[in-house]
Amino acid sequence: MCTPPHRRDVGAYALGVLGAADAFRFEEHLEACPRCAGGVAELGGVAAALGRYARLTPPGIDPVVRAGPGLVRRATRAVAAGRRRTRRRRLVLVAAAVVLASGALFAVPGAGQGPERWTAVDRISGMTAVVTAGAREWGAEVGLEVSGVPESGVCSLVAVGRGGDEETVATWSSAAPGEAPIRLSGGAALRPGAIDRFEVRTAAGRRLLRLTR
Ligand SMILES: [Zn+2]
Repeated sequence: MCTPPHRRDVGAYALGVLGAADAFRFEEHLEACPRCAGGVAELGGVAAALGRYARLTPPGIDPVVRAGPGLVRRATRAVAAGRRRTRRRRLVLVAAAVVLASGALFAVPGAGQGPERWTAVDRISGMTAVVTAGAREWGAEVGLEVSGVPESGVCSLVAVGRGGDEETVATWSSAAPGEAPIRLSGGAALRPGAIDRFEVRTAAGRRLLRLTR
């Protein structure tokens, strides 16, 4: 059944800012809901426009400062103008405005583009993870959201460079398997562009998940 929370997730999903566990659940809903699938397709254009905007912003200029609030104001005005739009269409526009605002927060000052993203879903264990890496002068600032870790104990997130070099980005410990989503952040000396993939490993070094772009 399609509920208001589902329709709110449409915008976040289309722009790739929904957390791993939520995105996984939402994809299951999408398969059965033409209405939300249509919304995602419609917002694909917004995501592309945002990406173009980020690419066109000259290096050294933070796109948020220039355009974040303006974009939201314009989107809000468009909603107010209304022009015989259906209620559903307004909801989608509001979602787009909110997502444009939150998406803009992910922009990396000085990098001229947003963070890069790696994801993985293990259909057997149910484990999901999303990693974002934003360029910094010293390397990459890394955010991780992981759900459904199939065992307890210490795990680590490892960045693997294009040349095969490895760096541990973060470690954590779960008291029980399949706990609620874990969010943490860390850093790597590798620039995002130099990172090939991320891996979640057990303390013994066994790979639980391999995240790709
Ligand atoms: Zn739906």
